[in-house]
Amino acid sequence: MQSIVLFGPPGAGKGTQAQRIMESTGLPQVSTGDMLRAAVAAGTPTGLEAKKYMDAGQLVPDEVIINLIKDRIKESDAQNGVMFDGFPRTIPQAEALASITEVSHVIAIDVPDERIVERICGRFTCNECGSVYHDTFNPTKVAGQCDNCDSKDFKRRADDNESTVMSRLTAYHEQTSPLADWYLSKGIFHVIDGDRDIDEISKDIIEALK
Ligand code: AMP
Repeated sequence: MQSIVLFGPPGAGKGTQAQRIMESTGLPQVSTGDMLRAAVAAGTPTGLEAKKYMDAGQLVPDEVIINLIKDRIKESDAQNGVMFDGFPRTIPQAEALASITEVSHVIAIDVPDERIVERICGRFTCNECGSVYHDTFNPTKVAGQCDNCDSKDFKRRADDNESTVMSRLTAYHEQTSPLADWYLSKGIFHVIDGDRDIDEISKDIIEALK
């Protein structure tokens, strides 16, 4: 089993790219953010614990995340590897990951801080199929209708606001970016310029995965 990690700051486009390259990798997207939001919506004990950190733009404790991942990768669709989106985010999470699956590539989507706020404040997701859009940078082709499934039901994330974004960026720089050196030393770290056209980024990621 060989997995891929999509790495980068909040708003870099990890979720968007995961969906776009799913077909060519054949690996399911595993987003800890999506799993936590589902737990919050379902009101599970994990969701209740995670919500206070998520609302504050802070990282949820490693133990909670590692347990979620351990359960997720036991599922049948994960047996040939997965595409992690938003995990790992700390060195202890990366160490836990190394003990449960082999990571073949870490794809770092690089976007400068000054572009993050405008990219995050303006994004929205289809409630039916999860396709990700942005008011300015990636609008639906027909206003108010999902390109993928025609649904007219969209949602915006509670933590996609300017003040929470700044905390999420701080958490990224302090706790997550040190992972870059960790993975660089393993020779599996590929940096992709994420401040470009979405199709060009997907093309470069697929190339880096060859
Ligand atoms: P995301 O959807 O990846 O932007 O994650 C949204 C929020 O969920 C983050 O701001 C954190 O509070 C929490 N979260 C998601 N993934 C992790 C993780 N791997 N470690 C810690 N917290 C996480």
